[in-house]
Amino acid sequence: MPVASPQRVYADANATTPLLPEVFEAMRPFWMDSFGNASSIHLDGQRARKAIEQARETLADFFHSHPAEVVFNSGGTEGDNTALAGLLRPGDHFVTTAIEHSAILETARRLAQRGVEVTYVPPLPSGLIDPAAIERVLRPTTRLVSVMLANNETGVLQPIEEIGQIVRAAGAFFHIDAVQGAGKVPFDVRRFGCHLLSISAHKMHGPKGVGALFVRRGTPLESLIVGGTHERRRRAGTENVPGVVGLAKAVELASRALEDGTLERIAALRDRLEAGLLRIPGVGLNGADEAHQPVPRVANTTNLWFDDLEGEALVIALDLRGLAVSGGSACHSGATEPSHVLMAMGLDKNRARASLRFSLLRTATDADVDHILRVVPEAVERLRALAPLNAGTLG
Ligand code: PLP
Repeated sequence: MPVASPQRVYADANATTPLLPEVFEAMRPFWMDSFGNASSIHLDGQRARKAIEQARETLADFFHSHPAEVVFNSGGTEGDNTALAGLLRPGDHFVTTAIEHSAILETARRLAQRGVEVTYVPPLPSGLIDPAAIERVLRPTTRLVSVMLANNETGVLQPIEEIGQIVRAAGAFFHIDAVQGAGKVPFDVRRFGCHLLSISAHKMHGPKGVGALFVRRGTPLESLIVGGTHERRRRAGTENVPGVVGLAKAVELASRALEDGTLERIAALRDRLEAGLLRIPGVGLNGADEAHQPVPRVANTTNLWFDDLEGEALVIALDLRGLAVSGGSACHSGATEPSHVLMAMGLDKNRARASLRFSLLRTATDADVDHILRVVPEAVERLRALAPLNAGTLG
């Protein structure tokens, strides 16, 4: 058994990220001092209201939208649920992709039980969604198309603008799950051509349990959560003031990082990491084209398969060596299922099970990459040597 390394590196940013200190400081006054309810008319309420409306301006700048088109909510899952359930009715046709997050796929499954017709467009083997494949499945009854900006497992960036043009020409509504793309690529909801777009603070060094949904003016979206008149009746419930303030600060810092070279620095670290890991025998890249070159993707992510290994065993071995990463599999009621994303891309079950996602924080350093490149080859070699197949104990 390896001794746990005193150094720990967290390379699972696509699962969640820590607050940046500036975010924590921005939120601090709103827990105990400026704690008012933004709906109250007294001074305490007004302070909270002012903070919310300032945050709304920041989000509108980020989206390139009008402030009235920003709806604060509890995060990506709620945004995705609202976009679908708020627009689709029995008899409508809904188009999405086979590689969406479960926040989309499970909502689609429930809506299908209630009479919505759903088409799932598969990706190309590279993980890209072909806009022509979307165009082919559109019908006169297609009310909504939902495609993610960046895939959470592979980081692959979808040709959103092209898809937006096709959807608009067909007269349907367009939703983008931008949870993994936010803060990693420049944003412009007009250029994307979308009516709805969801983001989540905790994927961009903001707090958990808060996010925002862009709702283009005139979109006939029914709210999912009803009660008071908050958020122009689009989302009832007392506003999470510290959360919203934290989201706005996270967005402000992410916008800065898009312009000050931070993303290029992270991409260079990811490329060095990837090149180092690809030197291990029996390792390959998920999200590559026919020439084995990566397709467009976010700066911080690489997803690799490791032949002759069980991904889960490798995740545990790496955890013991001070490295947090995710496997290309999800645990459903105790059974390890290979990733639906990698399976849809055409990987066989073994490769999908033997895949790992490395996703770097915005604060990642060269020392982090050095640590990863030290522990992964050693863990892979150890596990392969232990594997019954290689030890000759199985036929
Ligand atoms: N959509 C994508 C692509 C995600 O990666 C996630 C989180 O993993 C979500 C939606 C859900 O976001 P949240 O955790 O804010 O509910």
